[in-house]
Amino acid sequence: MHAFAYQAPTTLQDAVRILAAGGPAAQPMAGGTDLIVQMRHGRRSVDMVVDIKRVPDVTELTYTPDGGLVLGAAVPCADVAAHPAIRAHYAALADGAGLIGGVAIRQRATVGGNLCNASPSGDAIPPLIVLGAECRIVGPHGEHCVPVAVFCVGPGRTILAPGELLVSLLLPPPAPHTGSCYLRFTPRAEMDIAVAGAGAWVELDAAQERITDARLALSAVGPTPVVAERAARAVIGQRADEDACAQAGALASEAVRPISDVRGTEAQRRHLAQVLVRRALWGAIRRARGEAIDD
Ligand SMILES: Cc1cc2nc3c(=O)[nH]c(=O)nc-3n(C[C@H](O)[C@H](O)[C@H](O)COP(=O)(O)OP(=O)(O)OC[C@H]3O[C@@H](n4cnc5c(N)ncnc54)[C@H](O)[C@@H]3O)c2cc1C
Repeated sequence: MHAFAYQAPTTLQDAVRILAAGGPAAQPMAGGTDLIVQMRHGRRSVDMVVDIKRVPDVTELTYTPDGGLVLGAAVPCADVAAHPAIRAHYAALADGAGLIGGVAIRQRATVGGNLCNASPSGDAIPPLIVLGAECRIVGPHGEHCVPVAVFCVGPGRTILAPGELLVSLLLPPPAPHTGSCYLRFTPRAEMDIAVAGAGAWVELDAAQERITDARLALSAVGPTPVVAERAARAVIGQRADEDACAQAGALASEAVRPISDVRGTEAQRRHLAQVLVRRALWGAIRRARGEAIDD
């Protein structure tokens, strides 16, 4: 790894100014669990690391029932996975954050870093998409918000312009009778990368019998996270039962564009997409009904 400068600004303005001045060779660092590994392996040439963890805006974690969740981009996954309001109201996000690495990695790795790294297998990304999260982005030319669903544009590539920083993720307040779930398949339970993963969010009617809205997204089955819109639309209005989940799974497996690599074949990933969407949607339905699914 070649020598690099290190800066740790304490305000958002300073972080943006330093990044903009440093050009493409300056990179933000949150937990560093992707960035440092990539620099060490020569996959990234970085002259300046801008450590953002001392910037209060990116470490904010606030939940209010009316305002929803403000999740600073540099909040560690361990804090996200353990947060009572996130577990209660944004369960898919707690699922995804709680699967990243092992205990030690989760103390450093962040949800924002997972998203900005834009790996197709990022475990926090489908949960953010199905929960309707927006990215608050600040850069040298001001501030804007975009849905997480359009943030990743290719493996390792995002819509961030040079000098821009993901400041926080904004999740809408939870609506009644809603639930969410994220599941992945890995050969090992921990410290492994998803062969495939699926997130589901669902809203039920007041009787909790029919699906009134749904969102589905998958990891590791395409160059970017895959939003399975047709599969989600197909179950709206249906009874919230295992048949609806099976139908969603079948349609989702038609939406994916997997590759074969060392972790799995294209056919295996297509099959996993079907199984994981079916199970994740069923998990979301059960959670919307107030049932525990972690047993
Ligand atoms: C042993 C091990 C196990 C792992 N297991 C998993 C796993 O199970 N699932 C999984 O999804 N990942 C896994 N990872 C990958 C990694 O831990 C996660 O992607 C993690 O969430 C990255 O967060 P970070 O804060 O460490 O990101 P960093 O390494 O700090 O940053 C990642 C990238 O995002 C950019 N960046 C970071 N924050 C911002 C920001 N606020 N604005 C703009 N750009 C930013 C950085 O410049 C860099 O390019 C694993 C990694 C290791 C080393």
